[in-house]
Amino acid sequence: MGLFEAFVCDGCTRVSVRADRCCRYCGASAVLPVILSGHGTLASFTTIRVPPTVFQGQEPYNIAVIDLDEGLRVTARLTVAEGREATIGDPVIFEEMRSYGPMFCLS
Ligand SMILES: [Zn+2]
Repeated sequence: MGLFEAFVCDGCTRVSVRADRCCRYCGASAVLPVILSGHGTLASFTTIRVPPTVFQGQEPYNIAVIDLDEGLRVTARLTVAEGREATIGDPVIFEEMRSYGPMFCLS
């Protein structure tokens, strides 16, 4: 499992996965890097069989909405091993960060 880096606001303590110059929630300018647990829950997912041009050759793949244990909701790719089936509410775990975003798998 890789490290899932995010950013926490020094003012309101809300967490964001983007490195904005100031907090998107309260506007404070002190945003500090933080490492998330990488644990979350599958809120929704869909399988992409006809991808946009840049992702052609990667299909089929799953796009998931994941509620992280830190209270943050992210969109990510979801890897489902052969013989397993993803269900809403399943625990998931962060695998690694790719150029197109985070990868998760069923835990
Ligand atoms: Zn803030």
